[in-house]
Amino acid sequence: MFRSYGGISAGRTENGAVAPFDLAARLDALVAIDAPAAKAYRPAAACARPAARGIRPAVFRGHPKHCPVCRRQSGHFLSFGLVRRRNAVCPGCGSLERHRFLWLYLEKALRLPGRRLSILHVAPETCIRERLVALPNLRYAGVDLYRPDAPLSMDVTRLALPDASIDLVICSHVLEHVERDRLALGEFARVLRPGGRAIIIVPLDPRRATLEDAEARTAAQRLAAFGHPYHVRICGADYGDRIAEAGFSVCRVDAGALSGHRRRYFRLNKASLFDSRRG
Ligand SMILES: [Zn+2]
Repeated sequence: MFRSYGGISAGRTENGAVAPFDLAARLDALVAIDAPAAKAYRPAAACARPAARGIRPAVFRGHPKHCPVCRRQSGHFLSFGLVRRRNAVCPGCGSLERHRFLWLYLEKALRLPGRRLSILHVAPETCIRERLVALPNLRYAGVDLYRPDAPLSMDVTRLALPDASIDLVICSHVLEHVERDRLALGEFARVLRPGGRAIIIVPLDPRRATLEDAEARTAAQRLAAFGHPYHVRICGADYGDRIAEAGFSVCRVDAGALSGHRRRYFRLNKASLFDSRRG
């Protein structure tokens, strides 16, 4: 089952008891991220002595921004998006807001760097994949049906992997493109070991219920119906229930739970992720 409160959701068992994995502890790990205090965001010009203003490197004009994926700091990130978002792309590794949120969660909340895990990374984003494959404690498999440079070509609705062979599935911005997403969720549940996790990110509109329209088949129809030519649905507030139906206990974690200065420092938007544990 799936339940929301205050922008954060906690997994519930069928009889209503709180699922036995501790959302609060993991959220504490995120909130405790050692971003600098708010006073560090004073404009650079206000901090600089007059004699030094003229020689400050241009890259440090404005508030500092830090990419947790490549650990570089910059004064400005790059713009991105159909509706352009300023300071969206890290100039070092190309990460977007959702990639930085995902990596913070993997590193700080799941403590990935210190654990021995088998990971299935669906449609791997280059910036995240490079960090994961560099960790010697992980057994990593990246799968993608369309990218020729992906390590394995695999349909997410028919994973050619043994049952209960994976500890962690990472699947970000994929399921909104998959018509039979329930099949894909069932496959994640099948290949995960009991207690394994699927970290799932979809573009989420929490103000509405999930919207699908079988009549929307062409790119133009899908653009009109879902706001994107290659999306097959709008994922709404109930999308966690769909994940839970596949056999997961689901927590929704919102980047909005972080403080404003941390979101500015890491350049995060209102992304959410579903931390989904296989029962
Ligand atoms: Zn970066």
